[in-house]
Amino acid sequence: MKKMSRRTALKVMGAGILGLTGMAAWNRDQIIAFLDRDAAAHEAGDDSVQVKRRLYPSSGTELSLLGFGAMRLPTRHGEIDEELAQKMVDYAYRHGVNYYDTAYMYHGGESEAFLGRALAMSLGKSAGSAIDCTYCRYCDPCPYGVDIAGTFHVYNTWAERLHLGEGEEATASDGERTDFIRHYHNEVAKKARADMCIHCDECLPKCPQHLPIPDLLAKINQLAGAAGGKEAST
Ligand code: SF4
Ligand code: SF4
Repeated sequence: MKKMSRRTALKVMGAGILGLTGMAAWNRDQIIAFLDRDAAAHEAGDDSVQVKRRLYPSSGTELSLLGFGAMRLPTRHGEIDEELAQKMVDYAYRHGVNYYDTAYMYHGGESEAFLGRALAMSLGKSAGSAIDCTYCRYCDPCPYGVDIAGTFHVYNTWAERLHLGEGEEATASDGERTDFIRHYHNEVAKKARADMCIHCDECLPKCPQHLPIPDLLAKINQLAGAAGGKEAST
C-alpha cells in the first residue's frame, strides 16, 4: 500500500480550508468536486494512498502522523458547513487518519456533536463491507504480529470490487484470487499476514464488532493459499 507523507496529506487536506478562506485557487464547489471524485475512486477500489501511521508506545496503538482538527471546520451562514465538513472528515477517514481532535468549546459546542455524526457516517460505510471491520484497530496489537485491520481491509477492498459477501470468496475465479494475493502481498508485510495467527483468541474481547477474528483470518489465509501462496511482485 502506498503511504501518503505528512506533507502531502497536509497539502491535500489543507487545500479545503485554504480554499474557503480565499488563500488558494479552489472555491467551495471545486473542493466538493475534488472530494466527490476521490470518494468515487475509492468506491471503484482505489484506496492506495494512506497516511503513514506510527506506533504510540504507551498505548500500543498505531496513530496516523496527521490528525484531523475540528476547531476550525468550514462554516456557512455562521454555522458549520456540514455538507463540506462531512466530506472532509470522510476524506480523512478514507485515507487512514485515525486521530481526531475536538473539544466542547469549539464552534460554540457544535464541533463535538458534528464530529460524532460525521465519523458515525464514515464508520457506517465501512460497516457495509464483506467483513464488518471498521478498522478501529482496538484489537491491536496482536501478540503474534498479525495486522488484523490491514488484512481485513485488503480482503474487503477486493471483495467489494467483485461484489462478494463474506464467505463468498470461493466463487471467485482463479484470476480474481490471484489479484487478491497480489494486493495482499503488496500491502501486508509477510510477518503480519493471517498465517501468523495461532488462534490465541486474545483479540476477540477487544473487537467492538464482535468479529470472529481468528476464523476470518483462517479463511483469508486459505484464500491466499488457494491462490498459490507465491510472493507477488510489486
Ligand atoms: S487470535 Fe490470532 S489475530 Fe487474534 S491475537 Fe491471537 S494470534 Fe493475534
Ligand atoms: S477491533 Fe474489530 S473492528 Fe476494530 S480493527 Fe479489529 S477486527 Fe476490525
